Amino acid sequence: MRLDQRWPAMVLGAASIAAGVAALALTRRRSDLPIPVQPGGPALADVLDAVAEPVLLVEGVTVTLANRAATTVMGAQIVGQDVREAIPHPAAAELLSDLDLGGDGAPVELKGLGPLNQRWQMRVNAIGGGRRLVHLIDQTESHAAERMRVDFVANASHELRTPLAAVRGFIETLEDAGDDAETRARFLSIMGAEALRMQRLVEDLISLSRIEAEKYRLPSDEVDMVDLAEDVHAELVAAGAGRGRDVILSLDADVPKVIGDRAQLSQVMHNLVSNAMKYGREGTPVEIALRRTGAGVRFAISDQGEGIPAKHIPRLTQRFYRVDTGRSRSLGGTGLGLAIVKHIVERHRGRLQITSEVGIGTTVAVVLPTP
Ligand code: ADP
Repeated sequence: MRLDQRWPAMVLGAASIAAGVAALALTRRRSDLPIPVQPGGPALADVLDAVAEPVLLVEGVTVTLANRAATTVMGAQIVGQDVREAIPHPAAAELLSDLDLGGDGAPVELKGLGPLNQRWQMRVNAIGGGRRLVHLIDQTESHAAERMRVDFVANASHELRTPLAAVRGFIETLEDAGDDAETRARFLSIMGAEALRMQRLVEDLISLSRIEAEKYRLPSDEVDMVDLAEDVHAELVAAGAGRGRDVILSLDADVPKVIGDRAQLSQVMHNLVSNAMKYGREGTPVEIALRRTGAGVRFAISDQGEGIPAKHIPRLTQRFYRVDTGRSRSLGGTGLGLAIVKHIVERHRGRLQITSEVGIGTTVAVVLPTP
């Protein structure tokens, strides 16, 4: 049903329904007159259809108008229905049953409404003549972001608390260890390793927050990826320790330069090679391959190792997600390496591809666009 009601000229072109609702409420409060009619203006139904969020016009408890977003979420049948059936949620029913509600009704949170079980904030504004405007604002994403933030802080604290508790425990034990030099040396070595773990974690957390802060600033330097791969390789070989000598280069000669942040791209390569060295089998090669492709430049780090079961792959770039937490920790992992990689690749407008075969090995590739 479409009402041939006219919308006040003052709200035409307003980007958000909130502005419209506020304007109506204001008009009503100021003059206590019915909604002003603007002859020749657009129909209210057309105005509401232009609003991206679900909006219902309710008379008493009957839905008399629903915009397109509302019928998409609740179905076309809601027009003419009791609004408490149209929005089948206890908190909504309670608020909508209160016909005396003025324009300042507190918003309520609704969970699990709509085809995707979204979370909504429902606002109800009285607009005079026994009519109310019901406005649903999708809160699913902001709620998920808030959840992620809370989980992140909890995870980071937990990751720090474990090595910290170990160091404190060993300090107490050392105090009681007397002069036994061998025991002292052993405990100090464990404390050193735990402190190093905390340091790695703090450094990764700082990296992550710096990268996130720069997320919307496009990099602007020209980076020679061949030169970068050779530098990373030389650093790993020079470090001497670990599996540096297993790293081999396979570089195309005609790889164009990319627009990027050299330090960040170096961090990507270091993180990926470090994972390949950690999770690849001792003595097998870790390859850094650099190729020119139709889409730009592709560099791929491949190892021969335990591989990753397919079900884990989509989650590997989540912070602190690990296939085997104990194994990652014992190898000095923080669970943040691939999250850092993902953020850097996103800042460079690139793509990250992880392919793996259990028992055979893993290839993590980054495709960067060329100018
Ligand atoms: P971590 O510090 O634990 O290595 P990352 O974020 O770098 O954290 O990686 C997340 C998880 O992904 C690792 O814990 C590991 O389970 C898995 N992973 C990453 N790279 C590889 C690889 N090359 N081979 C096998 N598993 C890998």
